[in-house]
Formats: sequence, structure tokens, C-alpha cells
Amino acid sequence: MKILVTAGPTREFLDPVRFLSNRSTGKMGYAVAERAIARGFETTLVSGPVALAPPAGAKLVSVVSALEMLEAVREALPGHDALVMAAAVADWRPVKRSVGKLKKREMSTCLELEQNPDILTTLQPMKGRGIWVGFAAETSRLLDEAKSKLLRKSLDMIVANDVSQTDAGFEVDTNRVVLLSRNEKTRFLPLMQKIEVADCILDWIEDQKNMA
Ligand code: C5P
Repeated sequence: MKILVTAGPTREFLDPVRFLSNRSTGKMGYAVAERAIARGFETTLVSGPVALAPPAGAKLVSVVSALEMLEAVREALPGHDALVMAAAVADWRPVKRSVGKLKKREMSTCLELEQNPDILTTLQPMKGRGIWVGFAAETSRLLDEAKSKLLRKSLDMIVANDVSQTDAGFEVDTNRVVLLSRNEKTRFLPLMQKIEVADCILDWIEDQKNMA
């Protein structure tokens, strides 16, 4: 099995020192990559900027922005049986990136933004028989939002987590997730180590592969 995992946040720079980003630490995606390697999967890890050591044995591709992540996934994807998009891709980027540090007097209170492309949607024509898993980090209407992303992004499964809880989601080693797929019953998993959540996701992917 060959698996491509994305992890971490992206950074969208305004100038050489300032950026827009989010609270993702990469722990969930790195856990998936680590457990995939433990199963003997050939593992490619496309990672945004994080403070974690890459798991030994992964082919690491480091990126910074959402556009770089899109291109890295596009280039790496052919030949992979599964894609797990655990990255928290920034939805917006500044329209202009200044070459030099912006002076306070040059900055306005309004920041002009443009939308980043959705990586899963953009690359959907490359999916073929690949098993694709996405994540939905939500603070409200968890299941509705996750279900609509599952369908909209043509995923086989989505891992929904409520990031308003303090023991799950961003910055912690534990997660409490719900697994939603197209044809099976929704599975509510208890609070687990991210490593254990990773194993549940990989078990599901292996089952799909064996059924195909
Ligand atoms: O940000 P959102 O909640 O839409 O993310 C849901 C899924 O879509 C995640 O798996 C994320 O990695 C992916 N995504 C993407 N491209 C984006 C934003 C999110 O592929 N620009």
C-alpha cells in the first residue's frame, strides 16, 4: 500500500515576517504517517510548517503555503493508493505579498484576501480508484458540516472533530472523532490518543482496499 498524508497548517505571507495561519500542530497527520509506516506502507508526508520530527521512513515534502501544498500533492499523488488530507489548509491568502517588511504606516486596517483553491476538489479528476479521506474540524453543526464536505469533496470517508473541546482537536495528543463514510453507519469513537485514531483510519482504508 502506498499512502500520501498531508499534515500541519499552511502559512500565507503578507510580507517576509507576517503570515495568516491556524492552530494546527500537525500531530494528527504525523500520527497517521507514523502508523502507516509501522504497517509497512510506503508513506509520503506533505507537511506544512510544524515543530515535529518527521517519522523515520516517510518521504517528506515540506511546503509553506496552500498553493505550494496543492502543487506538492499534485506532483506526488500518482501511484498512491490512498490520500489522507489531515492538513489544515488556510482558506484565504493575502492578495499582495510585499517583498520588504511592511511599515506600520503602509498597513491599512483592511487586508485584501483571495480564496485558496480547495486541494481535494482541484485534484478530484486524479482520484481514480484511490481511497481519499478528509478531515472536518468544526465548532458547530459537526455532523451536518462533515457530511456536506464528504459529498462536496468526493471523499470516501471524513473524520469529523469538534475543535471547541479542550481535549480534542488542535494542539493536544488526544482526539474524539466521528467517522462518516458514504455507505456505512456513522461511527462515534471515544476519546483516544491520536495514534489510536490514526490506526482506526488506517484499518478502514485497509478494509476498503481489501474489498476492492
Ligand atoms: O477547510 P475544510 O473544513 O473545508 O477542510 C476539509 C478537508 O478539505 C480537509 O481534509 C482539508 O485538508 C481539505 N482542504 C483542502 N483544500 C483546502 C482546504 C481544505 O483540500 N483549501
